[in-house]
Amino acid sequence: MAEQMEKQAEQQGFAQYGLEDSIYRALQLLGLQQPTPVQQQVIPQVLQKRDVIAQAQTGSGKTAAYAIPLCQLVDWEENKPQVMILTPTRELAMQVQQEILDIGKLKRIKVPALYGKHSFRQQEKDLKQKSHMVVGTPGRVLDHLERGTLFTGYIGYLVIDEADEMFHMGFLEQVEQILSYLPENRVTLLFSATMPKAVEQLAQQYLREPLRITIAGEPISSRRISHGWYCCDDTDRIDLLLDLLKVHNPDSCIIFANMRAEVEDIYDALWDDGFSCARLHGGMEQWERTEVMRDFKKGLFRYLVATDVAARGIDVETISLVVNYELPPERETYIHRIGRTGRAGHRGAAISLVETYELQELKQIEKLLQQPIEQLPLPDREQVAAAEPAFREKMEAEPEAKGNKNAALHAQILKLQIADGKKAKIRPVDIVGTICAIPGLQAGDIGVIQIMDWVSTVEILNGKGEQVLQALQTKPIKAKVRKVTKAKY
Ligand code: AMP
Repeated sequence: MAEQMEKQAEQQGFAQYGLEDSIYRALQLLGLQQPTPVQQQVIPQVLQKRDVIAQAQTGSGKTAAYAIPLCQLVDWEENKPQVMILTPTRELAMQVQQEILDIGKLKRIKVPALYGKHSFRQQEKDLKQKSHMVVGTPGRVLDHLERGTLFTGYIGYLVIDEADEMFHMGFLEQVEQILSYLPENRVTLLFSATMPKAVEQLAQQYLREPLRITIAGEPISSRRISHGWYCCDDTDRIDLLLDLLKVHNPDSCIIFANMRAEVEDIYDALWDDGFSCARLHGGMEQWERTEVMRDFKKGLFRYLVATDVAARGIDVETISLVVNYELPPERETYIHRIGRTGRAGHRGAAISLVETYELQELKQIEKLLQQPIEQLPLPDREQVAAAEPAFREKMEAEPEAKGNKNAALHAQILKLQIADGKKAKIRPVDIVGTICAIPGLQAGDIGVIQIMDWVSTVEILNGKGEQVLQALQTKPIKAKVRKVTKAKY
C-alpha cells in the first residue's frame, strides 16, 4: 500500500499538491520535478497543518520539504512574519533563506535572515519592511525578541532545523526561550538527522501529536562511499595529509579539523604547496565566511579546510573526497561530515587520519555507520612523486563550475534599481502603477519591490526586464523620470 502510494506520488510530481501557480512554476524553473521521499511525506502533512518530527539528513531535500508548503501557506498580504525557521549555523540560515527566496520568488516571498556578526540595525530595518518569514540562528533571534524588534504575534509555523546540532552546540535552552515568545496555536516542524534524548524531550514537550517520519531519504550507508583510514602514529600529520591529497587528487574535497588553529595550520600548508584552497571556521568575519561558502558552492576552488561548526548542513554539489584530519569528538559528527560526499548517485570517498589509541573509537564509528572502515597502506615517496604531475596539472586547470541550479529561474528575472526611495516618498504602489501602464505589462510581471532610504529595487519577471528598463528611461514614477539601471546585486 505504502509502496503504491509512493509510486503514485512519484508519477504525479509536484502537481499533486495543488500548489499555487507561482510556486509550481518556480519549482519547474528550479528543475525540481519529483518530490524526494522526505518531501512526499512532509509536504501533505504541513499543508494540513500537522506537527511533524522528521529524521532527515542534509541532502534528502528536507529544506524544500518544509519550504514548499510554507511558501504556499503564507498569506502574501500580511506584513508581519508568519513563519520562523531556526537553524544552528549562520551558513545554514543563509542557505535556507536562499532556497526560500528561490521557491517563493514568483510569489514574492520576503524572508530576512537573522544571524550574529551581522548588523543588528540592518536586520531591524529589514524587519520593519514586509517579512513573510524569518530564518535565523537562536542567539540573534532571541536578541531581536528581547529588544522587541521582531513581532511574533502572527507566527503560525515554527521550523526547528538540525535540532540535534542545536543540542550539540548548546542552543536548546535558547530555542526554549524563543518558544516562550511564540503563539501557542502554531504548527511546529522539527528536523533532525539523529534523535538525541534532549531533542526527543523537546519534541515531546512542545509538539502536538506530531507525525513521525523516519525514512530520511537515502540512508548514508547505501551511498557509494568508500571509507578508509591511515595510521599516523609515526608520521607528521600535515606531511601525511599533503601526500594523501596528492595521491587521491580529488576534483573537490573538504578537510575537517576540530579546532580553528588546526584549520589555519592546514590551510597555510596547503596554500604554501600550491593547492587551490580556502578555509572556513567560526573565528572568521561573517562576510568572509559567506564569500568562501559561495565560492566553494560555485566550484571556484577545490579544497575547503573547515571546522564542523562552519560546514554543518551545507549543501555543495559533488564533493569527491572528505578527509577527517582527526576523528571528531562526537561519533555522529562523522556521519554528518561524510554526508557531504557520495550524493545524488556520485561516488565518494572518506578518509581519516587515526592513531592506534583511537582504534576503539573507530570501531564504534563503524558500528554507527554499519559499514567497514578499511585500513589503507601509507603511500611511499615514489607513489607521491608519481602522483605529483597529475596533481599539479589539476591545480592549474580551471575547476568545473557548479551550482547554478537557479539559473533558469533567474534568467527570467531582471532586478532594476531606481535611484530614489523613501526620502523621495516613493511607495510600492507608485512603481507598480508606472510599470503596469507599460503596454503588455501586468502586476503578475512584477516581483519583489524593496524601498530603502535613497534607492529602490524592483524585480521584473517573465523575461520582460529589458522592456521595462527601456520604458522607465522616459516614463515618470511619482511624477518624475527617475534614474533606472540594472541592479548590481
Ligand atoms: P537539503 O536536504 O535540503 O540540504 O537539499 C539537498 C539538495 O537537494 C538541494 O540542493 C536541493 O536543491 C535539492 N533538492 C531538493 N528537493 C529536490 C527535488 N525534489 N528534486 C531534486 N533536487 C532536490
